[in-house]
Order: sequence, then C-alpha cells, then structure tokens
Amino acid sequence: MRKAIFPGSFDPITNGHLDILERSTPLFDEIVVAVLNNPDKQPMFSVEERCEMIREVLKGVKRDGCHLTVESFSGLTAEFARASGASAIVRGIRAVGDYEYELRMALMNRRLEPSIETVCLMAGEEYSYVSSTLTKQVFLLGGRVEGLIPELVIAKMREKLGKA
Ligand code: ADP
Repeated sequence: MRKAIFPGSFDPITNGHLDILERSTPLFDEIVVAVLNNPDKQPMFSVEERCEMIREVLKGVKRDGCHLTVESFSGLTAEFARASGASAIVRGIRAVGDYEYELRMALMNRRLEPSIETVCLMAGEEYSYVSSTLTKQVFLLGGRVEGLIPELVIAKMREKLGKA
C-alpha cells in the first residue's frame, strides 16, 4: 500500500493544488490531503471550513483508483506523515523560490523521519503563478479569479466578503 500525504495551508484550495493532487493519484494508493492548523496565521477560512471545501471539490477530481481523504493536523508534518502510515509527502514547485523552500523542508523532514520521502511535482504551466495568497488579494480587490480556484471556493469567498 503506497500512502502519501499532501500537506498545506490550503487557505483556500486552488486549481494549482488540485492539479498537483490529480497528477499524484497514479503514483499512490491513498493520499491524505493534510490541512495545517497553524495558530500563528490568521486564515481567511477556519481549518474546518477548509477541510469541508476540499471534501466537496475532491468529488470532481480524477482519482485513478487512488483513495483520497482530507484531515487536519497541527505540529510537525513529518510526524503527521509517520503517524498516518504514509511513506511520502507530496509537494508542488512553481518557481525557484518554491524550490529553495521545499528543499529546506524536505531535508529537515528527512532528518526527522528518514523513512519518509518528499515527492515534488512541477506546477502545471497554467497554474505556476497561482497562490492562495495572491488569489485572495485579487478577489478582495474585486478582480476576476474564475479558473484559478474552484467555483465552490469563489462562492464561499463571496459569502465571507458579504459577512465581513
Ligand atoms: P504551505 O503553507 O505549506 O506552503 P500551501 O497551501 O501554500 O501550503 O501549498 C501546499 C503545497 O502546494 C506547496 O508545496 C506549494 O508549493 C504547492 N502549491 C501551491 N500552489 C501551487 C500551484 N499553483 N501549483 C503547484 N503547486 C502549488
């Protein structure tokens, strides 16, 4: 059984994340989308809201026989991977900046849990400039974000903005 986790903040999930996830499914039997509960950050969506949105959008993801689940976690990613019985951590790389960060994280995680391998997939070219942060900024300033994040997420962002 090849099991991986795909950890991240996912605040909110973008089509770039979904592209990485979908392209990872032929590589693993099971992937846990692991939503980081980081009390130091002020997120747009609570960890529960993020998990719920991801569960909903996963319904449209091609799985290629891979079992997809969503869980929240806090603390060390490597520890969560080990406790989940995963042998790999999936991450995405957009540009050189991501590479430097992902390399540091991968090396630290290997030191913490030598049996867990980090598997980095290159971003899809149409999403290589898409980040949760940039998408939120554009949305809050009234710009179009269609095609960059799932429709359901746009609807939830509109709800949030209405409430704010
Ligand atoms: P984190 O806070 O851990 O970086 P993110 O939710 O921002 O969490 O990202 C999770 C993973 O997805 C990271 O490896 C990040 O590089 C990758 N990622 C984010 N956006 C994209 C994208 N548009 N295309 C490919 N990978 C991406």
